[in-house]
Amino acid sequence: MAMIPSAGEARFRQDRGMKRSKECPKCHGKDIIADAKVIDLGHGNLEKELTVATFSKPEAMFFRGKATSKVSAWVCRTCGFTEFYADSPGMLGGE
Ligand SMILES: [Zn+2]
Repeated sequence: MAMIPSAGEARFRQDRGMKRSKECPKCHGKDIIADAKVIDLGHGNLEKELTVATFSKPEAMFFRGKATSKVSAWVCRTCGFTEFYADSPGMLGGE
């Protein structure tokens, strides 16, 4: 199946974010750093990759149904605008 972008798709390209558009929504720069790791300096300056988490049972003391995903960043090299994306959004629970 060929993927031919329609005119409407091209018009909304920027709304879908830098990950897909490869273009900065702020300055329209095309020099995008893809998939940069977000480093969170924890206790003792221990480097940890930034992670997002959801809890399906946040009220429980144990087994709270924690689901996590690492986070990567797309950075515009021209103006520095940064967008964050979860690496595995499908792993995160909802509700
Ligand atoms: Zn930019």
